[in-house]
Amino acid sequence: MSEREFGFRTRALHAGAVPDAVHGTRAVPIHQSTSFVFKDTDDAANLFALQKYGSIYSRIGNPTVNALEERLASLEGGIGAVATASGMSAEFLVFAALCGTGDHIVASSKLYGGTVTQLDVTLRRFGIETTFVDTTDPEAFRAALQENTKVVYTETVANPSSDVADLRGLADVAHEHGVPLVVDATLTTPYLLRPIEHGADIVVHSVTKFLGGHGTTLGGVVVEAGTFPWDNGKFPSMTEPVPSYGDLSWWGNFGEYGFLTKLRSEQLRDIGPSLTPQAAFQLMQGIETLPQRMGEHVANAQRIAEWLEADERISYVNYAGLPSHPDHERAREVLPLGAGSVFSFGVTGGREVGARFIEALQLASHLANVGDVRTLVLHPGSTTHQQLTEEQMAAAGIPDDLIRISVGLEDVDDVLWDLDQALDAALAATAATEQTEEAR
Ligand SMILES: *Cc1c(COP(=O)(O)O)cnc(C)c1O
Repeated sequence: MSEREFGFRTRALHAGAVPDAVHGTRAVPIHQSTSFVFKDTDDAANLFALQKYGSIYSRIGNPTVNALEERLASLEGGIGAVATASGMSAEFLVFAALCGTGDHIVASSKLYGGTVTQLDVTLRRFGIETTFVDTTDPEAFRAALQENTKVVYTETVANPSSDVADLRGLADVAHEHGVPLVVDATLTTPYLLRPIEHGADIVVHSVTKFLGGHGTTLGGVVVEAGTFPWDNGKFPSMTEPVPSYGDLSWWGNFGEYGFLTKLRSEQLRDIGPSLTPQAAFQLMQGIETLPQRMGEHVANAQRIAEWLEADERISYVNYAGLPSHPDHERAREVLPLGAGSVFSFGVTGGREVGARFIEALQLASHLANVGDVRTLVLHPGSTTHQQLTEEQMAAAGIPDDLIRISVGLEDVDDVLWDLDQALDAALAATAATEQTEEAR
């Protein structure tokens, strides 16, 4: 029985969870404790010297959080994982572990807005420079590499353009340069795409989104493939003695687990964005039904994208699940179960009509999130990007009529009804305003 490799759905329910040895608790218990009792002084010394694996203090590790980490590592096909308080802190921990002043990152320009500012503003203040590449062509990433480049970074499917990364091509470029490919796979989740199978070395997630799924809890995770040669000379902090742990070496003492051990025992210890056990429990509840939910998210998204594309009130739809998208062929290849449920479209008539459309929606929620069980929409032109000129919007790749949608799990006909009535209302209101203006 233990020889068997369990399927994805089974692992979504069981990986990382064994019934509690004392009480037989079947669900993963919430170990709501900051700290854990040592058996004796030897035990304590061994734990502190990293000679023994176990919980000391919940900033560095907690049994409930460990169960979530094991489950996500299993679903991604990695050797292990470190959970964090949010997606943003998962990204920051990776950059902080791999880069220091004078180092350089090559990243896709089509990233989550928070990631762009973390790279472009906060890391720059610490002397870490990022070059953003405005295409999915691996050769353009290669051209941006520098001697001091330490990371190549991309998302699997970009938001809101729905561009699909060429992971294999990017992994080859990164590996020829001796640096890891780090992939934010939030929008696809391991159900739709496992970047490690396509050459990625490190996968990060905002577990807040589809993995948790219910829009209740923030969390992040870093998963490692365990195949990157950290002793290749580019990452001295992986091989040099670590004074705070008696001069052990992450690579020398822990081998393929060296990077994750550094992430936990040094970066989580020193920076501290740990996931709470309550949050880990909530997120695990979501992950248990990830396979069932993602299938339905994708089916609803495909139906809605097709409906929108056929509607004359809509000027364009960016969804890699549609043959009209430039990356459709790649999506069919690497995303056989579907291209996710976050995409964008334009309402004919520009920024004002877009704003009216959003206001007229009755079922879809207007807010800044994705990956909820409920359908969510956002109009960057009247919210996150309202202060930009039309030219600046165009440069950001966001036309002013663009609406982003994260399709939820409602009856799809109800979402279609909502979109239809809001389009009618927005166009009627716009026509009425134009008539009033003409009459003046
Ligand atoms: C939301 C999101 C993040 C940030 O995650 P938080 O959990 O909100 O910190 C990072 N990347 C992507 C693609 C996201 O959608």
